[in-house]
Amino acid sequence: MIAPDQLERFIFENTAVRGNLVRLNSTWLNIIERHDYPLILRKLIGELLAASALLAATLKFKGSLILQIQGKGAISLLVVECTSDLGLRATAKWDEGISNDITFNELLGGGTCVITLVPEDGGQSYQGIVPLEGESVAQIIANYMLRSEQLETAIWLAVSPDCATGMLLQKMPEQPMHDPDDWNRVVQLASTIHAEELTGIEAGILLHRLFNEDDIRLFDPQPVRFQCTCSSKNVASALRMLGKDDMMALLSERGKIEVNCEFCNQRYEFDTIDVEQIFSAEVSAPTSRMRH
Ligand SMILES: [Zn+2]
Repeated sequence: MIAPDQLERFIFENTAVRGNLVRLNSTWLNIIERHDYPLILRKLIGELLAASALLAATLKFKGSLILQIQGKGAISLLVVECTSDLGLRATAKWDEGISNDITFNELLGGGTCVITLVPEDGGQSYQGIVPLEGESVAQIIANYMLRSEQLETAIWLAVSPDCATGMLLQKMPEQPMHDPDDWNRVVQLASTIHAEELTGIEAGILLHRLFNEDDIRLFDPQPVRFQCTCSSKNVASALRMLGKDDMMALLSERGKIEVNCEFCNQRYEFDTIDVEQIFSAEVSAPTSRMRH
């Protein structure tokens, strides 16, 4: 039986390596259904969602991890966000008529990979930027972790028609390796994994198959889900920044202002009364009038 959407952490008992496994089924399908993404982009978003959940689970921090790929090819922007309690959302900007058999490099054409950590308590956010290097999402993320965080990380990602999955291994930053070759040994063993194993086999069996001579402790799974943080209140404060005159001009032209969330595609509508309320001295967000 295939497990539900979840993330499972594990550690090697006898060496300083930790890991995570993630499986996204309804989370991924829910996210890609919201826009008319071409097939190749659905797969790429699946890989990025899995990768961001794997990374978020390595952090000791409460807030959101935002993974941004700023490409120069057919895809100009890919944004995936994962909260520390594993709520995921994603969005993308791409050329119309993008072909499904385009290469990875033609898709992104260089550019940058940006990871931002936004603490939920409103504290200082942290951002790391590295050039896009690699032939796959897994390579890009591993390069990012090494260059920006000085952390040895290896990632394997696989997408099937109904799920996006991944495995991450990381050298534990604070602990020295007993045997300096252990990291390479473990990565080599993990590299024998096939995509079908990653998408089709449950964690305990998979880890035993890959590392049968190592003692591994597998922790209880954590649920992963789709979650968009947009709200009528957030959209209203964005409109406020545009200024009342522009808003009123737009209203007289169109009768109402419509804003769609670029992540979940939720539509928010504001009429004259709503806009008056947004700009009134005591600002409270209008009760939303949402519709899909
Ligand atoms: Zn949204």
